Amino acid sequence: MYNSNVAILRITTDAEFLRKKSKPVTEFNARLHQLLDDMRDTLEDAWGLGLAAVQVGVLYRVCLVRCEKSSPPNGGVDAHGAQTANGVVELINPEIIACSSEKPGEEGCLSVPDAGYHTVIRPHKVTVRAQDRNGKTFTRDFEKISAVCACHEIDHMDGILFTDKSSGFARPKAAKRKQSSPSQGEGVASRKRSASAQAESDDGVGI
Ligand SMILES: [Zn+2]
Repeated sequence: MYNSNVAILRITTDAEFLRKKSKPVTEFNARLHQLLDDMRDTLEDAWGLGLAAVQVGVLYRVCLVRCEKSSPPNGGVDAHGAQTANGVVELINPEIIACSSEKPGEEGCLSVPDAGYHTVIRPHKVTVRAQDRNGKTFTRDFEKISAVCACHEIDHMDGILFTDKSSGFARPKAAKRKQSSPSQGEGVASRKRSASAQAESDDGVGI
């Protein structure tokens, strides 16, 4: 289902560009599918939890959110009706339609690596209505770090950065973090990494 002819895109850190608002997607065509496939490879390469199209220089309301690994590696529709592969859900024109109560958590951003990690207060569960790559509307719940990630990516579409919502600096980007600590967002990626890539991830995990 997924295009094997994909490219790793450059993740922008251009502060001015990141403030631009993304436009709704109206055409669910081969260009969109290529963008999603390229973003998927870029997310894997960056060892990230999520990625919005603005982060790769495309001002459309498109993002990826990593969730529990409940989907087949080559793609399909998960139990929530969302298009997904390897636990990465594609959201086109997403809207948060319900939120739980909020709690603080740590987050960073692939596009703002120098900011390190900040404490941000977010809902621990959100319900998102979005379209899949073919334009079909679905509704899906996201919990814990996936909920944080969905909120973070949707904020990107409106030019909002996690630092805008910071309750305080948590730690620098190079700080060592515990592995396998899903509450902080680490250890969620779906493939094994080399030791050097793992070391790099301590600098680079972000959404
Ligand atoms: Zn981000």
